[in-house]
Amino acid sequence: MSYRYVCRCCGMKVGEIQQSNVSEWQLGFQFLTQQERQHIISKDEIGNTVVRVVCDYCKEALDQNPDLSVVGNPLQ
Ligand SMILES: [Zn+2]
Repeated sequence: MSYRYVCRCCGMKVGEIQQSNVSEWQLGFQFLTQQERQHIISKDEIGNTVVRVVCDYCKEALDQNPDLSVVGNPLQ
């Protein structure tokens, strides 16, 4: 089981944790509301956890164009 961090904007893989005993606390999930968890955390077809984040590149773009964050990804 692994945790994969994928950018929710461009789909780029940001990082991966190959560890089954990592706690939600270590991942920072405790800061998320239940609704955010459902939106951000999902499972892929083989049961690995996929965490949708924003990569540095997209974060920079969003910082410069805050309106983009409201529009989001049309594919979602
Ligand atoms: Zn991105």
